Amino acid sequence: MDKQNRKAIIAGNWKMNKTATEAAELIDALIPAVKGAGCEVVICTPFTSLAAAVEKTRGTNLHVGAENVHFEKSGAYTGEISADMLVDLGVEYVITGHSERRQYFAETDETVNKRTRAALAAGLKVIVCVGENLAQREQGVTEELVRLQTKIALGGVSAEEMKNVVIAYEPVWAIGTGRTATSEQAQEVCAAIRKVLAELYGQAVATATTVQYGGSMNAANADELLAKPDVDGGLIGGASLKADAFAAIVAAAGK
Ligand code: PEP
Repeated sequence: MDKQNRKAIIAGNWKMNKTATEAAELIDALIPAVKGAGCEVVICTPFTSLAAAVEKTRGTNLHVGAENVHFEKSGAYTGEISADMLVDLGVEYVITGHSERRQYFAETDETVNKRTRAALAAGLKVIVCVGENLAQREQGVTEELVRLQTKIALGGVSAEEMKNVVIAYEPVWAIGTGRTATSEQAQEVCAAIRKVLAELYGQAVATATTVQYGGSMNAANADELLAKPDVDGGLIGGASLKADAFAAIVAAAGK
């Protein structure tokens, strides 16, 4: 199986943007803009917009995801949301390990693993984010670091469960900065991730798993990034907040 046979996925990460009212407006614009897309299209919205997003996208090709999930099933965790709560709403995907959660909310490789396993156990599809910061890239430890993040995030995840796992390579220095990794840098790390997957699960799982790039992907650079053999889609922040910009990336992924 090669790139043509893998599922290309473009996922929007709305972060802490859009009220539920604004989300409904954006979804109304997105539905016609991405209709008939040649790739899977996911929108990951704040918790407050998930119910409306699920309702509005029913019967369309838009899939809905959350941006985080707690690892316990239920209990005294004020302010948290469980995987079962997401599933009950009709949510299909969840992001784990986003660098903003690692940076601002004390997320560690271990908690990324716990969230990933809890989400998979509940039947969610998980977009696991990994990536180096600028200092780590400059120190030349990108590949080692991403290998470690990937291995720890997937600890205890079975080969069968890997059907519901997407890995997003997101260099922290490229997120929200307008500074995109070159297509060669994206390819190099996405290929390294696929190599770790082969070591962990065998070649069949590695070649079947979608590996995305994320970090200032936009309509202008999407074609070149998505043309690389190990880049199977994108996780999109800023450009996912405008229907036309997001639709242009979706179109690039469908080529
Ligand atoms: C992200 O938040 O995952 C992301 C890639 O953001 P941006 O596209 O804005 O860099």
